[in-house]
Amino acid sequence: MNYISNEKIKEVAKLLENLQKILIITHYNPDGDAIGASLGLFHFLKKIGKEPQVIVPNYYPQFLHWMPGNDKIVQADENEKALRKLINEAEAIFFLDFNVLDRTQEMEGMLKKRKIPKILIDHHPNPENFADVTISNIEVSSTSELLFEFMSKYHGEEAIDKTIAECLYTGIMTDTGSFSYNSSNPYTYYVVSKLINKGIDKNRIYWMVYDNYSEDRMRLLGYCLDKKLKVFQEYRTAYISIKDEELKKFNYQPGDTEGFVNYPLSIKNIVFSVIFIERDEYIKISFRSKGEFYANKFAMKNFNGGGHKNAAGGYSENNMEETLKKFERLLPKYQKELSNGG
Ligand code: 5GP
Ligand code: MN
Repeated sequence: MNYISNEKIKEVAKLLENLQKILIITHYNPDGDAIGASLGLFHFLKKIGKEPQVIVPNYYPQFLHWMPGNDKIVQADENEKALRKLINEAEAIFFLDFNVLDRTQEMEGMLKKRKIPKILIDHHPNPENFADVTISNIEVSSTSELLFEFMSKYHGEEAIDKTIAECLYTGIMTDTGSFSYNSSNPYTYYVVSKLINKGIDKNRIYWMVYDNYSEDRMRLLGYCLDKKLKVFQEYRTAYISIKDEELKKFNYQPGDTEGFVNYPLSIKNIVFSVIFIERDEYIKISFRSKGEFYANKFAMKNFNGGGHKNAAGGYSENNMEETLKKFERLLPKYQKELSNGG
């Protein structure tokens, strides 16, 4: 595929030619694609003789901790001293799976200050212009898929070994909901077939990511679907809302609500699904849609967020009741667009 021009690859190669210490940074609340792409690139850069280091802004879910290289990741909010040293000593930085610098949260200021080569590889709309090289394509399934092309063009496909392939496959699988959305381009399956040829066990990867939940998480899901789901058939919309005290009852661990937002989309006729989760100082909101309903535009316009057409996020600084009221009041305005979804 030609998502990345040869000129861009040459530019990156030239920038990195004599550099060793390379940081790989991803977004706040990293997901499977963020971690998969970062660890994939980590193993790749090591293989070609660099000294890479992955930094994530904050916690990421347990079901990604099995990944090769996980123990080498530095979590910024837990390790400020190490973080400062790493950022100060870095010679170049990769930014993966996001495109606005403030999604690195507390690191933003420190990263801005470093005038070293910066390379962004991402697949979200409207990239900010803060990197020396921006490799961005919104058609591609995932940053991990884009990295397959980046690595192949940079150093030849042979450089991609089984370990790198496991990481990239995890990113593609999670960002496509296991090939249920963002995955209609045949080229994605070409990449997948290449990765499987590297010897990965795709069934095991599925199992490690999706069949690895605690009993508490399963019961929390049951509770949300039974007691906390509200369906608005006339607007083809459904939402789940969950408060902190409810999470506590189920011994909530970060990551436990991951994926909940997808369930209401399995209801016949529903094309827009939302989950509202109470955090300490705000309500975290995730949006999912089917077809032509633009969840990212909805998130951006009404809830300080953004993302992709069919998977977006945002937040509200009002309390839960007010947030839900606001959301319900918005639905009639979107009735026409919602009727076009699916
Ligand atoms: P999730 O619902 O899984 O947290 O996020 C889904 C997608 O929405 C992410 O991949 C990301 O692109 C986007 N997203 C989530 N939260 C935010 C946010 O607060 N701001 C922006 N701009 N995008 C977000
Ligand atoms: Mn992604």
